[in-house]
Amino acid sequence: MKLSDILATLREIRVSPAKTLGQNFLHDQNLARWIVDQAQITSDDYVVEIGPGLGALTRFILEKGAHVLAIEKDARLAGFLRTHFPNQRLEILDSDALKFDPRSLFAHRTVKLLGNLPYNVSSVLLLRFLEQPSPISLLLLMLQKEVAERLSASPSTHDYGALTLRVQLHHHVKYLRTVPATVFFPRPEVDSAVVRILPRDPLELPQHDDQLLRRLVRAGFSQRRKQLRKLIREHIKDWDTVSRRLNIGANARAEELSLPQWIALANCIAPPPDPDTAVNRNERFPIVDKKDRILRYANRSEVHGNNLRHRAVHILIFNEAGELYLQQRSRWKDRHPLKWDSSAAGHVAFRESYDETARRELKEELGTTVPLHKVSKVSASQRTDHEFIWLYRGLTSGDLVPDNSEIEQGAFFRPAVIDGWTSARPEDFAPGFLECWKAYRRKTRAA
Ligand code: SAM
Repeated sequence: MKLSDILATLREIRVSPAKTLGQNFLHDQNLARWIVDQAQITSDDYVVEIGPGLGALTRFILEKGAHVLAIEKDARLAGFLRTHFPNQRLEILDSDALKFDPRSLFAHRTVKLLGNLPYNVSSVLLLRFLEQPSPISLLLLMLQKEVAERLSASPSTHDYGALTLRVQLHHHVKYLRTVPATVFFPRPEVDSAVVRILPRDPLELPQHDDQLLRRLVRAGFSQRRKQLRKLIREHIKDWDTVSRRLNIGANARAEELSLPQWIALANCIAPPPDPDTAVNRNERFPIVDKKDRILRYANRSEVHGNNLRHRAVHILIFNEAGELYLQQRSRWKDRHPLKWDSSAAGHVAFRESYDETARRELKEELGTTVPLHKVSKVSASQRTDHEFIWLYRGLTSGDLVPDNSEIEQGAFFRPAVIDGWTSARPEDFAPGFLECWKAYRRKTRAA
């Protein structure tokens, strides 16, 4: 929209731009088109646009043929968009993007997030949509220049801080260009900038405890001018030895440490699991016939190497909101590393019943002992890795304590989201889970 059209439209819909909603409307159409082009949108994409306003970016996103979910807090603007963009591919949500649950986006194949963000809440919004696990494959955002500089900063610079590390821990950030205040109505007090944010490959950085790392970074940057050794004394007692080992200056300040050095520091406090503990190659399992009758016992490599029929359990743990906990398998697993799977699962061991295995696996993997109920039995096939699987379910009202030698990360998801996710991106899941989920849905839909 040209400036004159923006002015006329705002008059017509009786909106005077609100500072509290960060309402600065873009009137440079070439720039709007350029921003959308940077996201390389195709008709297969599901694009979430935060704060569409009068549709400056929305129009160009729709031209790419993508499905757009536009989240606009101002109901008057949402109403305007509905009448001016009558397009089946545009879904308008007149609500606060801060209340939107990004995990619902797992139900779509390729999710991209775009927006000329309301500046008063831009960092909070950004962090909400970057919360792990995240289904978003690209973010293309206009932000205050100062925030964009902090997101893309390098160590030993003024802009490098806790926000930089929080975002760069799982993403690469590229500062694309500075945008002057003159392209907006009304003009904001500061310049803006466009950034592109892409998720890192999950194996790019060493395994670590995210929560611990965040606590360390927060403590380290709590007083920028102070030496790090003093600020994290509570976490690291023998700073001289640790700093020498990690090649960090003895008197370094937080801003001097690179991301890999921060990770190494966290890993000194809580070392990541030994890769060998993720797979016990000497485990012995019962080998069974077509009817699940025990024939003999064999070790793990023989069972998997020769595709022998064996037994396993899968456990689905729900919370009180009816959401299911899914785990992402550890990067060190010999089968299906980093794939999403049931809350807990494992092989039936030597002289163990299915019920005993279910209780043991739940305790070992999630540190809990809630009562379990049998759901159904899934027959052994290539799709289950030749496992007969008894599927169990349970309900938790407390915290789960995932074992990080088995589990990379985990989260609760609504069953409808899992339905969408398993059909949009089955390759994200361990095949056994897909069979179990089908069995569970058949059973619960029939009930
Ligand atoms: N995209 C439009 C453009 O480029 O001209 C408008 C951008 S304007 C900077 C920010 C937009 O975000 C406004 O339309 C405002 O009403 C909307 N907004 C503000 N806070 C929001 C929130 N919490 N959730 C969703 N939209 C919000």
